[in-house]
Amino acid sequence: MNIEEALQKANLDIRLRGEDAPHQWFKYAEIEANVLCDQRDLKLNFTFNCDKRIQAYAVYESKLVVVTAGLFDFLCRLADRIVSKGLLPALGRAVAPSWTLSSVRSDQTPRKLIQDAPFVDGVSEWKDDPERHALFFYLLLTLFRFVVFHEMGHFYHGHDKRSPESSASMDVDSAQPRLLPKNEALDAQARELVADKFAMDMLTICTEAEVERMKRTPFMAPLEKTLLNSKERRMQFLLQAAYIYFAATDRLPDSVPEEGIRMSHPPAAFRLVTLAAMVTENLDGEKTHSALAATIVGDALIAVALDRKPDPEWLARMQVPTLVEHYKKLHDRFSFWTKNSPRLTRGR
Ligand SMILES: [Zn+2]
Repeated sequence: MNIEEALQKANLDIRLRGEDAPHQWFKYAEIEANVLCDQRDLKLNFTFNCDKRIQAYAVYESKLVVVTAGLFDFLCRLADRIVSKGLLPALGRAVAPSWTLSSVRSDQTPRKLIQDAPFVDGVSEWKDDPERHALFFYLLLTLFRFVVFHEMGHFYHGHDKRSPESSASMDVDSAQPRLLPKNEALDAQARELVADKFAMDMLTICTEAEVERMKRTPFMAPLEKTLLNSKERRMQFLLQAAYIYFAATDRLPDSVPEEGIRMSHPPAAFRLVTLAAMVTENLDGEKTHSALAATIVGDALIAVALDRKPDPEWLARMQVPTLVEHYKKLHDRFSFWTKNSPRLTRGR
């Protein structure tokens, strides 16, 4: 398949090859994404494009997963900020992190703060510290994999087949979701939760296998010892990464009830709660609280990394009756958008 043509046909910005990108991390990520896209017999293609916005796409006709340069650059800045601030100090020779709460910074969105701090490869203070380097890479890789697996989830569950009669050409995942008519929004949001579940499942399988395979290598050994040394810790790490991702792209404060039920994507708090519930399901009873604890750690990481106020209310904001009701309805639509749904079998 010609990727340039497929992008043009879908009206997307031109291709960015890893080797032509501003820094080496694009190249590594591109190799990784190609491996991921080949899984589950999906045989998808992957590419970055030059778009500066924070977006990812599932282009159905050409079986193409697209991540914008803007989104990947954003993930690099975010991971760099966390590692440079000395967070997760058990790894390497980090100076103890300092938190200077700033009301000016607290009034700005996390996304704006991250976008104002460019990432220049090779100048961060962790560059000569192998363990901090490994932390940066693994955090970046985890955030990036979540995005790619999410897009793959749209393909895996046949989200292009909207009904026996109609197909969609593309799904867009953007930091700023559109508003839709209420009934359309419910189905659009259910599809996102299904794609998130696929992403978390795949990320879990991938992380478990990778840690087992690589735990004696110089790269993985320190990560395994400090961050990833039990199934529970690995789950916490993945959930923290998800929290950081949603908080950094500003999706957490977006649970305004009237808008929350009309957005193309569910309020991020819904997405996190769904992921936390899944993670909990995979742990035994006593460890269930650890899922929620992980999001508290994620919140602290973002607050310190950006010198902002923490956001302990993110979960409480969901408790208004309109949103509770909407969340229930969303879950009722969940199975309709999964692979074995009657929507697909009837259509064949
Ligand atoms: Zn999506």
